[in-house]
Amino acid sequence: PAQRSFLQGLVGVFGFPVAENPTQAMIEPAFADLGLDWRYLTVEVPPDRLPDAVRGARAMGWRGFNCTIPHKVAVIPMLDALSPAAEAIGAVNCVVLRDGQAIGENTDGKGFLQSLSSVRPVAGSRVVILGAGGAARAIGMELALSGASDLTIVNRTAQRGADLASRIRERSGVPCQFVPWEGRYRVGPEVDVLINATSIGLFSDVDALPAVDLDALRPGLLVCDVIPNPPRTPLLREAEARGCRTLDGLGMLVNQGVIGIQLWTGLDPRPEVMREALLDVFQPDDR
Ligand code: NDP
Repeated sequence: PAQRSFLQGLVGVFGFPVAENPTQAMIEPAFADLGLDWRYLTVEVPPDRLPDAVRGARAMGWRGFNCTIPHKVAVIPMLDALSPAAEAIGAVNCVVLRDGQAIGENTDGKGFLQSLSSVRPVAGSRVVILGAGGAARAIGMELALSGASDLTIVNRTAQRGADLASRIRERSGVPCQFVPWEGRYRVGPEVDVLINATSIGLFSDVDALPAVDLDALRPGLLVCDVIPNPPRTPLLREAEARGCRTLDGLGMLVNQGVIGIQLWTGLDPRPEVMREALLDVFQPDDR
């Protein structure tokens, strides 16, 4: 018989806290489906140990890793190079270790973009983004770099929103205005895409709805949410009831994982295997 290798390809996620991060449950079934003997480890790394963890991953021949809160910005000085998008966004959520080099990528915005471009062209889109945190930043920058014609950032904390709008303008040259979030935001008739990139609606606050004027949601508007759990948020349900097309945050999460696997392995995983695996985690009782 052929000699069996017990040496597995290693990737994973570094976060703090990280116990509730479901990425492993999505990535490992995709590896198995591809016939790869790889593991995706969920690793709790306190902020002051991140440099050791990155050195450790390099020493142990890890193929790469995801970074989540609070490491997405802190990891940058520990890397050899950044992709143009990660550089423009100013945050890294995916590192590729290859040929002794550590390259920082950002797949959050790309995952969203892949979902969006499956239903409409990104080029020429007029987009409103609710929120100015990490997800909004990645999505806004990728949209601007991919030909969106006009962006509006709506955020509760004015400074954060204004900073993101000016960063997008400077890096992409695309018009991007900031609107303070006061009362119910009313989406204008010229808008093509509305994106909730806040954490409103995330488990366990599953009934929460971002403050938008629901009467302004109309057929022709595409309404998107970044919340993966539960995927059918109140915002998406209200939008569907008014004839809007919708995109859920589960698609973004799956696509982001697909891109990570492509970067680490060079292979194309099957997204449906990953989506099913996540639904098993998020909605075990409904299946
Ligand atoms: P951050 O903490 O960086 O940002 C949170 C944003 O939400 C801020 O703009 C904040 O506004 C806003 N916000 C939160 N609560 C409220 C509220 N009650 N009213 C108004 N605004 C509010 O988080 P992230 O950007 O990293 O993550 C946001 C969400 O995106 C999370 O739920 C996460 O699960 C999801 N996500 C999904 C991904 C996917 O692949 N589907 C990938 C990455 C993230 P303010 O600035 O005023 O505080």
